Amino acid sequence: MFTITPMVVAKGPQREKSRFTYMHGCGEKVDIPYTTWLIQGSGLTALVDTGCSAEDYRTHIRQGGPLMYAGEKFSDVEEIKPLDEHLKERGLTFDDIDLVLQTHVDWDHCMNTRHFKKSKILLQRTEWAKLPIHPLFKGTYAPGYIYEEISKRNLQFLDGDYHITKGLDLIYTPGHSPGGQSVVVDTKDGRYVIAGMCTIRENFYPSEETKRSTGLPVIPTGSHIDPIQVYDSMIRILNAGDRVLPFHDHANFTMGTLG
Ligand SMILES: [Zn+2]
Repeated sequence: MFTITPMVVAKGPQREKSRFTYMHGCGEKVDIPYTTWLIQGSGLTALVDTGCSAEDYRTHIRQGGPLMYAGEKFSDVEEIKPLDEHLKERGLTFDDIDLVLQTHVDWDHCMNTRHFKKSKILLQRTEWAKLPIHPLFKGTYAPGYIYEEISKRNLQFLDGDYHITKGLDLIYTPGHSPGGQSVVVDTKDGRYVIAGMCTIRENFYPSEETKRSTGLPVIPTGSHIDPIQVYDSMIRILNAGDRVLPFHDHANFTMGTLG
């Protein structure tokens, strides 16, 4: 059995909602957290993704000029709490993390991964092999030198589903990115699935009205390389546990420890 603690490192203020909910909520704005999840139990300490600090965002991602999306200007990423401070509050340092479970390598999920010099970093071979994936997704990925730094860490490439230990599994969930994976975690409160893609709660739990009108149980991610594949992955995630935990849902700001 494990516990799961969301640690929000930064915030994207007032982001376009349809970037998350495909063809839904166009023009609506949401504050989104950049989350890393601390998993503890069975003698293991793991992180699911590592997030991105506001400083790294300014220095390496935005690199001058405002953040633009579809012709609209958006505010900068704001600091909430650096990852090392989150860990320090819990008596941990980067070196105490046994495993980094890297769901995918969008910049908002991996900018801190280069700091984990002693951890084993588990990611899908297809996710890494396809970098850079396409000019269309330039804004989604970090600069090449960040991936070069990460490549010097202790990467373990996986080919599909992977059993880590009792109560902790990775499932292959591509479609948002070429080789995304999600994390299935058993806690005393039930089985949670950390969805390895950029989503909010509404993606997995749309309103009854939306479900009636679409005839579908989920809303695909607004950002995807293959909408059919990501839909199938999302159904798999939904069925893999009792509750889905999305990376960018507002509830992560105040959720506290689960299990
Ligand atoms: Zn994301």
